[in-house]
Amino acid sequence: MTVGILALQGDFREHAEALQRLGVTSRLVRLPQHLEGLERLIIPGGESTTIGKLMVTYNLLEPLQQRANEHLAIWGTCAGAILMARQIDNAYRDQPRLGIMDIRIRRNTFGRQIDSFEAHIDLPLLGAEPLKGVFIRAPGIESAGPNVEVLGRLSSDGTIVAARQQRLLVTTFHPELAGDDRLHRYFLTL
Ligand code: GLN
Repeated sequence: MTVGILALQGDFREHAEALQRLGVTSRLVRLPQHLEGLERLIIPGGESTTIGKLMVTYNLLEPLQQRANEHLAIWGTCAGAILMARQIDNAYRDQPRLGIMDIRIRRNTFGRQIDSFEAHIDLPLLGAEPLKGVFIRAPGIESAGPNVEVLGRLSSDGTIVAARQQRLLVTTFHPELAGDDRLHRYFLTL
């Protein structure tokens, strides 16, 4: 199995390392032809405005939207989750986005860079042990449509931090930075 990682900007290398630990081959995706034959794609954290613009520059936006409709499983972490959301409360102007998942998201919901934090997240689907969530200028999922399954919330204020809609998965934190590969393993089952 080969998993694609969108490698336009952001922390794609850390995702590749997590997959390597699981013995899974990854392919860095920078051009439409790199999507050939892929069944799974990770969109990393970074800066959603930059990644969105580069998706347009490298002609990836439409092919990705199309493949999301067909069979591609996509996991967006942080900026990746913003790019997947159907609605961005405080989008930067008309920032390009995929808009493929029925969630409403707010960028930088916890404040600026210095307000980044770590929190233990209960994700029942991964078992009893909570996952360490690393939140870096993280967005918050404000609401989720009826077809979206909420997988985890912050215990402090109930903000949704992980959700799934069929083959689409979003997390507003960075599992690839926590050295706990359970979510990567889970993504491989979608
Ligand atoms: N705040 C960033 C954005 O709006 C996301 C930060 C991240 O991916 N760690 O794109």
